[in-house]
Amino acid sequence: MSDSTAFFIKKFRENIDTPEEPGQWYRPRPYRNAVVKFRDCSIDDFEQRRDILINEAGLNAFLFRADMIPGCDLLSDSGTTTMTMDQWAAMLLGDESYGSNEGYFELRAQFAETFGAGWCEKDNSSGGSSESLFLFHQGRAAENAFFSILVRQLAAAGKGSSAPPSDGLMPELKSRIESRLGTNSHGKDLWIIPSNSHFDTTQGNIEDKGMIPLNLPCREHLEKDEIFPFRGNMDVEELDNLLEHEKDRVPLVYLTITNNTGGGQPVSIDNIRKIRNITRKHGVPFFFDACRFAENAYFVKKREDEFWDSSIVKIVHEMFRYADGFHISLKKDGLVNMGGALVIRKDGDFSKKFPNFKEGITDHQIMAEGHPTYGGLPGRDLKAISEGLRTVVRDEYLDARIGQVVRFGRHLFEAGIPVIRPIGGHAVYIDLDRFFDGTAGDDEFKGISMTALMLIAGHRVCELGLYAFGSYDGEKEIPPEPRVNYVRAAVPRLAYEDQDLFSVVEAFRVLADNRDRIPAVNVEYGRDLSLRHFKSRFSFRG
Ligand SMILES: *Cc1c(COP(=O)(O)O)cnc(C)c1O
Repeated sequence: MSDSTAFFIKKFRENIDTPEEPGQWYRPRPYRNAVVKFRDCSIDDFEQRRDILINEAGLNAFLFRADMIPGCDLLSDSGTTTMTMDQWAAMLLGDESYGSNEGYFELRAQFAETFGAGWCEKDNSSGGSSESLFLFHQGRAAENAFFSILVRQLAAAGKGSSAPPSDGLMPELKSRIESRLGTNSHGKDLWIIPSNSHFDTTQGNIEDKGMIPLNLPCREHLEKDEIFPFRGNMDVEELDNLLEHEKDRVPLVYLTITNNTGGGQPVSIDNIRKIRNITRKHGVPFFFDACRFAENAYFVKKREDEFWDSSIVKIVHEMFRYADGFHISLKKDGLVNMGGALVIRKDGDFSKKFPNFKEGITDHQIMAEGHPTYGGLPGRDLKAISEGLRTVVRDEYLDARIGQVVRFGRHLFEAGIPVIRPIGGHAVYIDLDRFFDGTAGDDEFKGISMTALMLIAGHRVCELGLYAFGSYDGEKEIPPEPRVNYVRAAVPRLAYEDQDLFSVVEAFRVLADNRDRIPAVNVEYGRDLSLRHFKSRFSFRG
């Protein structure tokens, strides 16, 4: 080997692990484009987008035609993955038999591999339904089935109580439960489902069954200036206090990984272990809402000392070792466009507490989804999910994925746009209260105007703030409590290059430089509806 090549190899290598720019540009993406889609529209068509926005979509980002977006569509990271060639190839091998198709068995084996020992093992010894993997067409369908059966089995057991919450609860916790009593419990048995933070459909499904969803985020969760590495954690003191006094009314404890709020803030394994100890002490089962399990494992590897040298797969196994079950939307870290699952550990605390649960779920699925072994999905989709689960835990995939989201957030921050930090795994949140701080005049729903102006610029983002989470009582607005006022830019997996995202930063920069000129909006339709941000129509004030 000549000295000069060794010299250059050393030089090339020196830069490759630099996390800062420009050093990071020495490392290319770990994949290349295999298929591309040319746009049917151009970034220059500003007037055309304005006309569509006003005349067709009523300034509502959800109603705007996706084929007229020439830039980044950052409405959601859910189901918007670009699939790999290996996934497309696997789809050709799909087995479309009715039930128990080949894809199901492959997927079950893949779940055991991805999530570790004890998951998805078939047990024929117990008689009746022995499956522990139940497929659904997406996450919320699994949630709906899960909570429907849960509430029915709780009622059948007849151990509920409508007595007021215990006086032993921390006063703040007690008042939070009491504030939900009127709307949620329908005067019947009081059941509480705690979580670090429930996703909105999980919360909706829990409320729909007359149970109370209770968020116990760690204190750092909403502190705007706190650079805390595991903002997604649960407050374990509150959890312990809750279970100490109300364990009989808590059928199970949830943990959302990553915690969606704030753009996918991670949960530490230390927090998971503490929750497991507390739930075990009180005899309460413990479940994950596992949509972004791989992204969570990546943050654990980077931020939790014990795991710096562990593989992602090993970290995932360690996380899932502590759970009695989980549900997952495979539209996120399954790297597919549609799919969901519910998994119950065969000999876990939940199975012991609800021995007939699997029967209940199976009946529900036969009525609503077809059969647990396909859950409303074509057999070929199951093949794509298995392949996606193999890709999502690759170190180089996660480096590229999370690195891109973090870079995007950092560029926004450096452009003077106030974003929640540290940046999470799948989205960047812009803090509107800070963005508009100091601007004068009428400020009704400027988050809606921001998303509308971004659409005219050529990109789609989503308001998650005073409009999405507030409500209207016929006379006045009731803002969300605690106050949330964000615009979210969620990044689809494997879909965009940095250049695309940097063009979003530049569009935001134009808005920031001219923030005094951003108009308020009138709500033309739907202000008093439930889930109003999906349906409403608006017009610019000026
Ligand atoms: C997306 C999501 C769900 C719901 O899954 P869908 O597939 O969209 O129905 C539930 N929980 C979390 C944390 C999610 O991100």
